[in-house]
Amino acid sequence: MGLINIYEDKLKNTIGNKRYNHSLGVMKTAIKLAKKYNVDKKKAAIAGLLHDCAKYKDIQLLLKRACEFGIILDNTMKKSPSLIHGPLGAEVANKEYNVKDKEILDAIRFHTTGRENMTILEKIVYISDYIEPNRKFNGIENIRYIAYRDLEQALILSMNNTIKYIIDRDLLIHMNTIKARNSLINENKQEGN
Ligand code: FE
Ligand code: FE
Repeated sequence: MGLINIYEDKLKNTIGNKRYNHSLGVMKTAIKLAKKYNVDKKKAAIAGLLHDCAKYKDIQLLLKRACEFGIILDNTMKKSPSLIHGPLGAEVANKEYNVKDKEILDAIRFHTTGRENMTILEKIVYISDYIEPNRKFNGIENIRYIAYRDLEQALILSMNNTIKYIIDRDLLIHMNTIKARNSLINENKQEGN
Protein backbone atom coordinates (compact mmCIF):
# COMPACT_ATOMS: atom_id res chain seq x y z
CA MET A 1 0.00 0.00 0.00
CA GLY A 2 1.36 3.37 -0.92
CA LEU A 3 0.87 4.98 2.43
CA ILE A 4 3.95 7.13 2.06
CA ASN A 5 3.04 8.18 -1.49
CA ILE A 6 -0.38 9.38 -0.41
CA TYR A 7 0.89 11.56 2.42
CA GLU A 8 4.38 12.49 1.22
CA ASP A 9 3.72 15.70 -0.74
CA LYS A 10 1.26 17.15 1.73
CA LEU A 11 3.49 16.35 4.71
CA LYS A 12 6.66 17.70 3.07
CA ASN A 13 4.88 20.91 2.13
CA THR A 14 3.56 21.59 5.62
CA ILE A 15 6.41 20.46 7.86
CA GLY A 16 9.47 20.60 5.58
CA ASN A 17 12.00 18.00 4.44
CA LYS A 18 13.91 17.63 7.68
CA ARG A 19 10.83 16.95 9.79
CA TYR A 20 9.46 14.73 7.06
CA ASN A 21 12.59 12.57 7.27
CA HIS A 22 12.21 12.51 11.05
CA SER A 23 8.61 11.31 10.52
CA LEU A 24 9.81 8.50 8.24
CA GLY A 25 12.26 7.48 10.98
CA VAL A 26 9.48 7.46 13.56
CA MET A 27 7.32 5.37 11.22
CA LYS A 28 10.06 2.77 10.68
CA THR A 29 10.85 2.55 14.40
CA ALA A 30 7.15 2.33 15.29
CA ILE A 31 6.65 -0.56 12.84
CA LYS A 32 9.57 -2.47 14.40
CA LEU A 33 8.24 -1.91 17.92
CA ALA A 34 4.71 -2.85 16.82
CA LYS A 35 6.06 -6.22 15.63
CA LYS A 36 7.86 -6.71 18.93
CA TYR A 37 4.83 -5.83 21.09
CA ASN A 38 2.11 -7.35 18.89
CA VAL A 39 0.37 -4.14 17.94
CA ASP A 40 -1.24 -3.42 14.55
CA LYS A 41 1.70 -2.47 12.31
CA LYS A 42 -0.39 -0.38 9.97
CA LYS A 43 -1.76 1.73 12.82
CA ALA A 44 1.79 2.20 14.13
CA ALA A 45 2.98 3.20 10.64
CA ILE A 46 0.24 5.79 10.10
CA ALA A 47 0.56 7.26 13.60
CA GLY A 48 4.36 7.41 13.27
CA LEU A 49 4.29 9.04 9.85
CA LEU A 50 1.64 11.61 10.77
CA HIS A 51 2.56 12.32 14.40
CA ASP A 52 4.08 15.73 13.55
CA CYS A 53 1.63 16.64 10.76
CA ALA A 54 0.69 19.86 12.60
CA LYS A 55 4.20 20.84 13.65
CA TYR A 56 4.08 24.16 11.81
CA LYS A 57 7.17 26.29 12.26
CA ASP A 58 5.04 29.42 12.37
CA ILE A 59 3.62 29.76 15.90
CA GLN A 60 0.93 32.18 14.72
CA LEU A 61 -0.31 29.56 12.24
CA LEU A 62 -0.26 26.94 15.01
CA LEU A 63 -2.40 29.16 17.25
CA LYS A 64 -4.75 30.10 14.43
CA ARG A 65 -5.35 26.50 13.44
CA ALA A 66 -5.82 25.40 17.06
CA CYS A 67 -8.50 28.09 17.31
CA GLU A 68 -10.13 26.90 14.06
CA PHE A 69 -10.40 23.37 15.42
CA GLY A 70 -11.75 24.60 18.77
CA ILE A 71 -8.80 23.25 20.76
CA ILE A 72 -8.89 24.63 24.28
CA LEU A 73 -5.38 25.62 25.31
CA ASP A 74 -4.40 24.99 28.90
CA ASN A 75 -1.95 27.28 30.69
CA THR A 76 1.06 25.10 29.92
CA MET A 77 0.24 25.10 26.21
CA LYS A 78 -0.19 28.87 26.24
CA LYS A 79 3.31 29.21 27.72
CA SER A 80 4.84 26.47 25.53
CA PRO A 81 2.93 26.60 22.23
CA SER A 82 5.04 23.83 20.69
CA LEU A 83 2.98 21.41 22.82
CA ILE A 84 -0.08 22.30 20.74
CA HIS A 85 1.05 20.27 17.72
CA GLY A 86 0.02 17.03 19.50
CA PRO A 87 -3.71 17.73 19.96
CA LEU A 88 -3.78 19.82 16.78
CA GLY A 89 -2.10 16.97 14.87
CA ALA A 90 -4.92 14.60 15.85
CA GLU A 91 -7.48 17.05 14.41
CA VAL A 92 -5.46 17.65 11.25
CA ALA A 93 -4.90 13.89 10.72
CA ASN A 94 -8.65 13.37 11.05
CA LYS A 95 -9.83 16.22 8.82
CA GLU A 96 -7.01 16.54 6.29
CA TYR A 97 -5.53 13.04 6.11
CA ASN A 98 -8.83 11.25 6.63
CA VAL A 99 -7.61 9.18 9.59
CA LYS A 100 -10.68 8.10 11.56
CA ASP A 101 -9.16 5.48 13.88
CA LYS A 102 -9.35 6.71 17.48
CA GLU A 103 -6.28 4.75 18.61
CA ILE A 104 -4.15 6.33 15.88
CA LEU A 105 -5.54 9.79 16.60
CA ASP A 106 -4.85 9.43 20.34
CA ALA A 107 -1.29 8.26 19.65
CA ILE A 108 -0.80 11.50 17.67
CA ARG A 109 -2.65 13.60 20.26
CA PHE A 110 -0.51 12.46 23.19
CA HIS A 111 2.87 11.96 21.48
CA THR A 112 4.42 15.07 23.05
CA THR A 113 3.09 15.00 26.62
CA GLY A 114 2.11 11.38 27.13
CA ARG A 115 -0.84 10.78 29.48
CA GLU A 116 -2.02 8.57 32.31
CA ASN A 117 -2.65 4.93 31.30
CA MET A 118 -1.18 5.13 27.82
CA THR A 119 -2.06 2.41 25.30
CA ILE A 120 0.76 0.33 23.84
CA LEU A 121 0.36 2.16 20.52
CA GLU A 122 0.68 5.52 22.32
CA LYS A 123 3.81 4.28 24.09
CA ILE A 124 5.29 3.04 20.83
CA VAL A 125 4.77 6.36 19.02
CA TYR A 126 6.06 8.33 22.02
CA ILE A 127 9.29 6.36 22.26
CA SER A 128 9.77 6.08 18.48
CA ASP A 129 9.72 9.88 18.34
CA TYR A 130 12.53 9.84 20.89
CA ILE A 131 14.76 7.11 19.46
CA GLU A 132 14.23 7.17 15.66
CA PRO A 133 17.50 6.82 13.67
CA ASN A 134 18.01 10.56 13.05
CA ARG A 135 18.07 11.34 16.79
CA LYS A 136 21.45 11.78 18.41
CA PHE A 137 22.15 12.39 22.08
CA ASN A 138 24.18 10.89 24.90
CA GLY A 139 22.63 7.68 26.14
CA ILE A 140 20.31 7.13 23.17
CA GLU A 141 21.77 3.68 22.45
CA ASN A 142 20.81 2.56 25.93
CA ILE A 143 17.21 3.76 25.53
CA ARG A 144 17.01 2.15 22.07
CA TYR A 145 18.15 -1.13 23.60
CA ILE A 146 15.67 -0.91 26.48
CA ALA A 147 12.76 0.06 24.18
CA TYR A 148 12.76 -3.47 22.71
CA ARG A 149 12.96 -5.14 26.11
CA ASP A 150 10.95 -3.02 28.55
CA LEU A 151 8.76 -0.47 26.81
CA GLU A 152 7.57 1.20 30.02
CA GLN A 153 11.10 1.56 31.36
CA ALA A 154 12.20 3.18 28.10
CA LEU A 155 9.39 5.73 28.43
CA ILE A 156 10.25 6.44 32.06
CA LEU A 157 13.88 7.12 31.07
CA SER A 158 12.89 9.40 28.21
CA MET A 159 10.41 11.28 30.39
CA ASN A 160 13.05 11.67 33.10
CA ASN A 161 15.36 13.23 30.50
CA THR A 162 12.60 15.47 29.16
CA ILE A 163 11.58 16.64 32.63
CA LYS A 164 15.21 17.38 33.54
CA TYR A 165 15.56 19.39 30.31
CA ILE A 166 12.40 21.35 31.11
CA ILE A 167 13.53 22.06 34.67
CA ASP A 168 16.97 23.25 33.54
CA ARG A 169 15.21 25.84 31.35
CA ASP A 170 12.64 26.90 33.98
CA LEU A 171 9.77 25.86 31.71
CA LEU A 172 6.41 24.41 32.73
CA ILE A 173 5.96 20.65 32.93
CA HIS A 174 2.66 19.57 31.41
CA MET A 175 0.43 17.74 33.93
CA ASN A 176 -0.08 14.90 31.45
CA THR A 177 3.67 14.21 31.47
CA ILE A 178 3.71 13.95 35.27
CA LYS A 179 0.63 11.71 35.24
CA ALA A 180 2.13 9.59 32.45
CA ARG A 181 5.38 9.07 34.32
CA ASN A 182 3.61 8.25 37.60
CA SER A 183 1.35 5.72 35.93
CA LEU A 184 4.27 4.11 34.05
CA ILE A 185 6.22 3.71 37.29
CA ASN A 186 3.14 2.16 38.95
CA GLU A 187 2.64 -0.19 36.00
CA ASN A 188 6.23 -1.38 36.14
CA LYS A 189 6.12 -1.94 39.91
CA GLN A 190 3.01 -4.10 39.54
CA GLU A 191 4.70 -6.16 36.85
CA GLY A 192 7.75 -6.66 39.03
CA ASN A 193 5.77 -8.09 41.95
FE1 FE B 1 6.15 16.10 17.83
FE1 FE C 1 8.37 14.17 16.27
